Amino acid sequence: MAGSEDRRVLDTLHLLLLVAVLPLASRGAIRNARPWTEEKNYHQPAILNSSSLRQVADGTNISEMWQNDLRPLLIERYPGSPGSYAARQHIMKRIQRLQADWVLEVDTFLRQTPYGYRSFSNIISTLNPAAKRHLVLACHYDSKYFPHWDNRVFVGATDSAVPCAMMLELARALDKHLLSLKKLSDSKPDLSLQLIFFDGEEAFLHWSPQDSLYGSRHLASKMASTPHPPGASDTNQLQGMDLLVLLDLIGAPNPTFPIFFPHSARWFNRLQTIEYELHELGLLKDHSWERHYFQSYGYRGGIQDDHIPFLRKGVPILHLIPTPFPEVWHTMEDNEENLDEPTIDNLNKILQVFVLEYLHL
Ligand SMILES: [Zn+2]
Repeated sequence: MAGSEDRRVLDTLHLLLLVAVLPLASRGAIRNARPWTEEKNYHQPAILNSSSLRQVADGTNISEMWQNDLRPLLIERYPGSPGSYAARQHIMKRIQRLQADWVLEVDTFLRQTPYGYRSFSNIISTLNPAAKRHLVLACHYDSKYFPHWDNRVFVGATDSAVPCAMMLELARALDKHLLSLKKLSDSKPDLSLQLIFFDGEEAFLHWSPQDSLYGSRHLASKMASTPHPPGASDTNQLQGMDLLVLLDLIGAPNPTFPIFFPHSARWFNRLQTIEYELHELGLLKDHSWERHYFQSYGYRGGIQDDHIPFLRKGVPILHLIPTPFPEVWHTMEDNEENLDEPTIDNLNKILQVFVLEYLHL
């Protein structure tokens, strides 16, 4: 798919980006003259040192995640099903018990599907809703509807129970850090965190613009017409999204993630560097540098996923979906047995470091 040609093109692109970004970085003096909606373009991470990296690696717990976050999600949960309700309750319950001040919102709506009207519910969990800017992590919690075969049900382990569990584990492992974000809320921090669990990503029958992305299409239009920060007259919630990090199809062994969007390449590069640093410190399990996850190749051609409605409205996207897709994709084999625990644990560590660095925690 991506040969050395692509790599060369991309390296040139990195250079160009660097040349373009350097003069901007030195314009700190006019910082206050910039509208807040442009701050995201200049945002820099606060890089963690080795001892902080060790603390993050020690703080995350894959067996706890597996038992408490993931297993309850490994059920049939297509939109409107009893499992969908149970999955939603589970996600909200796991977030509500945390100390950080998460504000939960359920965005419920009806849509026509090939099987008639169905109800969909996105879950939005926000820290400091009044903060102007939010780093957003997202995944879909619905499973694709398949007729049962020999009493077997499709549970979509990588698609996308694992990404949901990873987000819940991130909120748990970083709870104390995120709580400190709440304390800062007295002085109104401008940057905070939001988690979105989309419903209805999957097509009921055949993928089409009408039969897919039900939840993300609805939420993107709703956010585009919701003033933000609350009471603002000319800015909306989508402008408050610094970066939408979308996780999908994660949990199979040996994933490789390509770079999809040049506009977020510098954040993709952070993931690469974090993976390298954790590897060098011996903090990743069953991890060889020859098969590192965050590769330096670009991907041409689009992948349809929940980021699309947001991308079209100008939200910066970091799409974390492996290519090729897991071998078990959209088969009954996309189940717990075929998940690779060390890979998920390693990705948890990388993602948690990324979020801490982004939020300067
Ligand atoms: Zn799927």
